[in-house]
Amino acid sequence: MNPYWDAFEVLPRREIEKYQSRQLRWAVEYAYRNSRFFRDLYKAHGIHPSDVISLADIEKLPLISKEDIRRDVEAHPPLGVMTAVPPEEVVYVASSSGSTGIPTPSPFTREDFEEWIDVESRLFWSSGLRPNDVYVHGLNFALFVGGPCVLGAQRLGATSIWVGAVDSSRFLFALQFFKATATWITPSYALYLSEVAEERGFPLNELNVKKIFLAGEPGASIPSVRRLIESRWGAEVYDYYGLSDIFGALAAECTERCGLHVAEDHVLVEVVDPHTGESVAPGEEGELVLTTLRKRARPLIRFRTGDITRYEVERCSCGRTLIRLLGISGRIDEAVKIKGVLVYPSSFESIVRDSLGYCEFRVVVQRVGFKDSVTLEVECPHGTDAEYAKRSLENLIRARLGISVNVKVVPRGTLPRTVHKAKRFIDLRKKVEVS
Ligand SMILES: [Zn+2]
Repeated sequence: MNPYWDAFEVLPRREIEKYQSRQLRWAVEYAYRNSRFFRDLYKAHGIHPSDVISLADIEKLPLISKEDIRRDVEAHPPLGVMTAVPPEEVVYVASSSGSTGIPTPSPFTREDFEEWIDVESRLFWSSGLRPNDVYVHGLNFALFVGGPCVLGAQRLGATSIWVGAVDSSRFLFALQFFKATATWITPSYALYLSEVAEERGFPLNELNVKKIFLAGEPGASIPSVRRLIESRWGAEVYDYYGLSDIFGALAAECTERCGLHVAEDHVLVEVVDPHTGESVAPGEEGELVLTTLRKRARPLIRFRTGDITRYEVERCSCGRTLIRLLGISGRIDEAVKIKGVLVYPSSFESIVRDSLGYCEFRVVVQRVGFKDSVTLEVECPHGTDAEYAKRSLENLIRARLGISVNVKVVPRGTLPRTVHKAKRFIDLRKKVEVS
């Protein structure tokens, strides 16, 4: 069986760049002609599509952000004037999951939708999903762009069970009953299911699940979370990355699992310094900026994703030449200042998992007088001494993040559980500017 879904995955870099350069010219011209938002933006910056000839010319174009989409949608509901096709050409609308601000719609034409599903098939194929697999899809279907990704598994020929985000007992039942070999869930849900299974004496590693695709949260990029999920499930974890504004997934790990190959025929990757907007070198951390190269319903050109990543351009040992994202380490807008130190909330998860393995926790930041006070509430796993857990977490957090926190061990089952995206970081202070 061909290890690749598509010949594009193994093209020499110069061929990929030639293609991208041609598509970039098309995308800028297309957006200028058909999207009032881009035409107004470029006119205001004195830019004409003919200014963009090579890939390097992309730096002449202004960056746009989620805030631009939000404002556009608010001013011109429901789809905004960034949308470049008449409403009758839109066949599907996803919406952001609302992890920040108000949800924003993301429209697709028939062609966009077809190409998206083909990309999902390609990503699944690269992770080793095959027609003899039984795939249980555990992502929410309600407006969430992760929902239709199930069609990618189905198109490649896997038996696809559309379970969605349901009650944990039902989900575990579906995995067992259908003898699922692969599933896609969020990292939080993977851990929560393992806890439910343990409490009910349900042996997770006796299930047939060999592959778990994870997306929607940075969990799969945190090595300790990943190891924990793999050991609890006795399965391999594959990190997936996508965003409602473009595709449910547009990058995923191949079976070598050393970074997420990007669908570079559909998006152009830049990684920039979030403060200056200048490109950073491969391997350096920065903000992921994406440009759609084929999208018709709503092109996005130089879209700041807010996600922090690094990338690798060398050919992967799987033979693919596509750029690899080396995990997502956090979101720009999630970085908060605590006691004067810039901290990503995902750092707490990494430390808790390293220290205690799986257990539910919650971080609460408050202002007491003129000082920040941080409390980490944690449910101690079975067989762990509460005093030990408290001391070890306080020490690790001080060592790694440079801040002191008060760890409070609470009885098991006290803290809220989640089936979708976890809210384990609660900031009760007034909003603090990130500088
Ligand atoms: Zn690879």
